Amino acid sequence: QEQSLTLEELRHANEALARAMRVKSDFLATMSHELRTPLNAVIGLSGFLLDSPTERLSPRARQALETMRSSGTHLLLLLNDILDMARLDAGRMGFTGEAIDPIPLVRGCVATMLPLVGDKPVELSFEADGLVSPVRADPQRLRQVLLNLLSNAVKFTDRGRVVVRARNDADGAVIEVEDTGIGIAPDEQVHIFEEFHQVKTGDARPYGGTGLGLALSRRMARAMGGELTFRSERDVGSTFTVRLPRAEQAPAGVSA
Ligand code: ADP
Repeated sequence: QEQSLTLEELRHANEALARAMRVKSDFLATMSHELRTPLNAVIGLSGFLLDSPTERLSPRARQALETMRSSGTHLLLLLNDILDMARLDAGRMGFTGEAIDPIPLVRGCVATMLPLVGDKPVELSFEADGLVSPVRADPQRLRQVLLNLLSNAVKFTDRGRVVVRARNDADGAVIEVEDTGIGIAPDEQVHIFEEFHQVKTGDARPYGGTGLGLALSRRMARAMGGELTFRSERDVGSTFTVRLPRAEQAPAGVSA
């Protein structure tokens, strides 16, 4: 008698939880547009004033507008990551399963990231190791994963190099992003794929970011039938490795 009551209670709790999850993802889906529109106005209009040559801005006004633009941009990145996470949770992120040549896609990502290096003594390069077969993936999502890894590599590397390598292995293609950056301590390594986790650095340098990038990237890699792993040594560097299934192996239209 007592046991069946508990089971009944559990079932109720489970249903309530499932309902709450649905409400949460529905809320986020509908709010997405509502949140982005005003935010884009903030970013766009502050940028318009900052970039307009006829606007005579006092130093104070310029400073305030710059803060508005960078805070708005940060908030938009955070919002996009949270919405992607909600979409993955709700199984609503559709993935296309196209056969794509990874080389031009990777090269494009590396080129996009070049400006991020700025004047740091960091060499960003791309090496294709032999023939790399077409992979089965969603190009937009694969790009998102690689840009995440690349922006981390550049962000956490003060000097040396960031090298992206592509090669074949037994099951498909492997794309590696290797850096000579600050590395990740062993006790932090178990946490870095957790949502919102950021390693506390001793120095008070603001690295920015949302702590969602790696969690999202691994989930997307897996949803495409691939995997994301890494190895890292403190003060030596890190290598993040994306594996993707060869085009003819994966079923078409893999979904989250
Ligand atoms: P963030 O938005 O903070 O970059 P991520 O999920 O992408 O969030 O990364 C989580 C944390 O993992 C980062 O805050 C950083 O501490 C650590 N990390 C990620 N990539 C690297 C890297 N290439 N080198 C050193 N630390 C890294």
